Amino acid sequence: MDAQLDLTRLKGVGPKLKEQLQRLNIQSLSELLFHLPFRYEDRSRIQPIGSLNHQQPAVVQGEVRAADVLMGKRRSLLVKLADHTGTISLRFYHFNAAQKKQFQRGALVRCYGEARRGASGLELYHPEYQILQDGQEELPDARLTPVYPATEGISQQRLRLLMEQALEFLRADSVPLTDLLPPEWLAQWRLPTLKQALLFLHQPPTDVRLEQLMTASHPAQRRLILEELLAHQLSMHRLRSKVQQDGAPVIQPDGSLRQQLIDSLPFSPTGAQQRVTDEIIADLAKPLPMLRLVQGDVGSGKTLVAALAACQALQAGYQVALMAPTEILAEQHFINMSRWFEPLGVKTGWLAGKTRGKARNQSLADIANGDARLVIGTHALFQDEVQFSQLGLVIIDEQHRFGVHQRLSLKEKGNLDGQSPHQLIMTATPIPRTLAMSAYADLDTSIIDELPPGRSPIQTVTVSDNRREEVIYRVAGACQNGAQAYWVCTLIEESEALQCQAAENTAAELIEQLPHLRIGLVHGRLKAQEKAAIMSAFKAHELDLLVATTVIEVGVDVPNASLMVIENPERLGLAQLHQLRGRVGRGSVASHCVLLYKTPLSMTGKQRLQVMRDSQDGFYIAEQDLMIRGPGEVLGTRQTGLQTLRVADLQRDGELLPAVREMATHLWDNHPHVVAPLIDRWLGEAERFAAV
Ligand code: ADP
Ligand code: MG
Repeated sequence: MDAQLDLTRLKGVGPKLKEQLQRLNIQSLSELLFHLPFRYEDRSRIQPIGSLNHQQPAVVQGEVRAADVLMGKRRSLLVKLADHTGTISLRFYHFNAAQKKQFQRGALVRCYGEARRGASGLELYHPEYQILQDGQEELPDARLTPVYPATEGISQQRLRLLMEQALEFLRADSVPLTDLLPPEWLAQWRLPTLKQALLFLHQPPTDVRLEQLMTASHPAQRRLILEELLAHQLSMHRLRSKVQQDGAPVIQPDGSLRQQLIDSLPFSPTGAQQRVTDEIIADLAKPLPMLRLVQGDVGSGKTLVAALAACQALQAGYQVALMAPTEILAEQHFINMSRWFEPLGVKTGWLAGKTRGKARNQSLADIANGDARLVIGTHALFQDEVQFSQLGLVIIDEQHRFGVHQRLSLKEKGNLDGQSPHQLIMTATPIPRTLAMSAYADLDTSIIDELPPGRSPIQTVTVSDNRREEVIYRVAGACQNGAQAYWVCTLIEESEALQCQAAENTAAELIEQLPHLRIGLVHGRLKAQEKAAIMSAFKAHELDLLVATTVIEVGVDVPNASLMVIENPERLGLAQLHQLRGRVGRGSVASHCVLLYKTPLSMTGKQRLQVMRDSQDGFYIAEQDLMIRGPGEVLGTRQTGLQTLRVADLQRDGELLPAVREMATHLWDNHPHVVAPLIDRWLGEAERFAAV
């Protein structure tokens, strides 16, 4: 590292403190300067003690009247402090003898803390304090006091002292910290330089509006937010170019296989399916690997789009891999695809984690020698031992973002002389726009914005669990009229075993109460064959009611099922509920969904179920979900690097993204030398992590 960036330039920093700073991800002076306050305190005025109120943070100054150690339930040091307006107590639970001695009768003390009502009237618990020497009247802080993210062993005061030294270096330009944004942008956006922004944010003057700082709307903050979002966009850009630098096979058959498939269907593709398919066909014809994300609401027909894309690669003589996030969804795809493709003379293959022994060896051999043309499976498809003969297209039906490094590793699977296969990613649930623009910025996007004709809307009601009997009665009625129903048991428990247990109990209860109905049970612990048998029995209407865990969330397709009961819906994310609910409403009869919630329901619980009741638009629901739960939860962002955002907030700053995207492209094309330093500055750690 540049010696000028070494933390030991700061007084008081030795090996021990260095190690502690490392725990805050601070390894250099520049990283220290980017360790920004998360809030500020106004300590610029000394408050008269007599004017303090409960829960008011304040600076007070007074004379020590007494300092006593109290025994009580917990030993504490109580210091009585007085000014000419009143008295207040300072209370310390952690203290040592030296500390007690400091508080001598008559000593002048200034402290900062939050006043709270305590046993002895208003008290300050563990205030920050300073003993003022003989008659010395220090001025109160002239700046807002920063509060930093801290860790054990490093106090706020310590961090502030270190920062003050670092800021001195910055002021004197003796820390190498380059302004990486073009000056004309700063002028155009009226933003400060990097140096100005950092100096300001660590030591804002007291006349700045605290509210402006708290809402991150100050230009100094906007400047850093912009820079961070740019860094993220650029890292996605870089990822994309890394994948694309290898090139890909040009796939451009005459489309007759695609036509054969369309001709064999009982329906024609919707306009939206057609348009998205055309976009994919155009990508495949280029010598660069396609990186395309297809978004579409539940039931919009993504599977057909995947199949039509597959036709192109298959006809051109390449293999296609279709990967799904769960075994049950993979099976569903396998059934669909085999039904569509086997009559066209295309052999399908199957590989899941649970495929073992002889069946597994046979699958691996078929994949390796190219007998299996269209291979369907779970993550197992990307294990080391799987080698394709000539893999031209990978289709990923994903639940959460597929890891970045996994995307890079597809190249090895293809056996394409160093070229990469094309990649098509389909999301199981719509992604809020801001998330799509950031977490998926390395992908081109297509949206299927139309449902196949003849769908009837789903009516959703919320019912409390003390009306459970009524709901059971209603299920019986619907089934006797020829409909089929799902009863979904949810449990928040991580344990699959507990989930299955709950479903078993519910099934037993329903069988007892509804003896005339044919009731099946499906959960994740059944063998694949058992599951498949039950699913096909339900599909063939040999069962009226299917009790299930959330394993049926994706992919299950039984148009005659028109009623779904979801137990404890308050425990699931909105996107997941939407996905579940999408299992009904697939036929032409009116469908219903009953959200059977547990009372009492919290305020947010009510709001969330209301969203489900009011809307069937997956994109709207996803936005609401994002607002309620935040990006990490919605995306499962561990792999996206988004959880490492330091100053930006996708929710708050989302409206910047379209501009940021354009700016990123501009930097990439016209200022290539700033790309790597920007990424390194903001995502150093995360990037290094993602690359392994
Ligand atoms: P999703 O987008 O949720 O994956 P699917 O691909 O499972 O949706 O399609 C849902 C259902 O709609 C399936 O039964 C499928 O056969 C049917 N479907 C797909 N496209 C059309 C279409 N153009 N017209 C009529 N039905 C269609
Ligand atoms: Mg699907």
